[in-house]
Amino acid sequence: MTGSRSIDLRPVASPAFGPVPAADNGKRFFVWTIGCQMNEADSAKIGAMLQEVGYRPTQDEEEADIVVLNSCVVRQAAEDKVAGKLTSLVGLKRRRPEVPLVLTGCMVTKQQEALRQRFPHVDLFFDPSDFDQLQRVVPELAELEDDLAQLPHYYLPEASTTTDSAAITAFVPIIYGCNFLCSYCIVPYRRGKERSRPLSDIVREVEELVAKGVREVTLLGQTVNAYGHDLPRQVGLADLLRAVDAVPGLERLRFLTSHPKYMSDEIIDAMAELPSVCEHMNLPVQAGDDEVLRRMRRTYGRDDWKERIAYTRHRMPLATVATDVIVGFPGETEAQFARTHDLLEEVGCDKVHLAMYSPRPGTLSARWQDDVPHAEKQRRHRELEALQLRLCTERNARRLGERVDVLVEGHAKGRWSGRTRGNTLVHFSDERDVYGKLVDVVITQTGPWFLIGEPVGPPR
Ligand code: SAM
Ligand code: SF4
Repeated sequence: MTGSRSIDLRPVASPAFGPVPAADNGKRFFVWTIGCQMNEADSAKIGAMLQEVGYRPTQDEEEADIVVLNSCVVRQAAEDKVAGKLTSLVGLKRRRPEVPLVLTGCMVTKQQEALRQRFPHVDLFFDPSDFDQLQRVVPELAELEDDLAQLPHYYLPEASTTTDSAAITAFVPIIYGCNFLCSYCIVPYRRGKERSRPLSDIVREVEELVAKGVREVTLLGQTVNAYGHDLPRQVGLADLLRAVDAVPGLERLRFLTSHPKYMSDEIIDAMAELPSVCEHMNLPVQAGDDEVLRRMRRTYGRDDWKERIAYTRHRMPLATVATDVIVGFPGETEAQFARTHDLLEEVGCDKVHLAMYSPRPGTLSARWQDDVPHAEKQRRHRELEALQLRLCTERNARRLGERVDVLVEGHAKGRWSGRTRGNTLVHFSDERDVYGKLVDVVITQTGPWFLIGEPVGPPR
């Protein structure tokens, strides 16, 4: 389940692909993905392209006729996993040299010589926005140029490809790239400037998804709330939310990841007013100290972020909040770290994506000394984890007896699982088949990371 995380370093093999397969040509493809939802969307697109020319997905790289790795380098840990995976494929390439090995994603730079030297067994490197390059190893794609332009941008979560059940949730990219230059971040260098998709294309895709049974859509972008400013007819995320909310049959609408600078009253008001838009705010703060935020080039201060959360809660008292935090940024003192700790304690988030600072070559901060020792980064990370464990335990304990509506996304270990509008994970037992249904659940047990309850009333 993808939920609201920003970056997932657990690799996924062959996720969900588009719904347009041509006749099976007997060939198989294997796509391995690591990183953010944008990478998952790109992998889905690659899969859909290959299905258009008759390939089918496989979970087993040994039987694949083409292997594609979609990489992430947002932190060193992700880059190490990609390098490990590439190295593990040396044997396969030796045994079956005719199988093209392709690397895409944020590891691929414009200057590919260094990559070629490091991984000589890779046949093709292409950067994330240049899908046409795949034609160099799959020539059949060249004949389909017009058809490929029609392929959807959306993707379905992993679970819906491993079961026969129709997908209930889907992800729709609405803006690519990023115009910020946060000093630690590699994304703008690899993903380019912001490019918004036309509003009408997005609405059409959501209509298609709803017609297929999807009930919840998450709109995606690195700076999702910057949507629209680059379009000829200026529209914003609030306009898009209104247009998508009007799609009949769409139950829930989410969006991530937002940047505090663009989190306008207008967007928050639209969230509060539109019935399908979930009361869940994903707003990375990154640090609680203004001096650290300034060196991160985040363009806002601690109080700006706090005020945006306060306005969100003013308009939607039950809204849940998720954020991202980096610990051990260059020069972060104990006192500055303590301000991040205090901020998180004061505001009380429902989810915090924590990361230890990792210098990324080519970014501004990589030129500064990485002077917080690794053990100290780990200590700060653990301290915030412990804080979050305590806060979430307390927050969720207050939900005992609450009645929540859960959109059921799966069944495992004898119980159903789904999420509330606020994105809280809920498990419950039910004899009925409630897959894809909205079920009212009364909470009977709470923990820091999920709730357990009893279903009441008929599923919808
Ligand atoms: N656009 C979003 C924003 O403005 O916060 C975040 C996108 S970024 C690709 C996802 C997360 O990775 C960030 O929120 C940050 O916490 C983390 N991240 C990015 N660069 C990092 C670095 N050099 N070291 C550690 N964490 C990093
Ligand atoms: Fe990276 Fe900053 Fe852009 Fe987010 S806003 S993707 S952290 S540069």
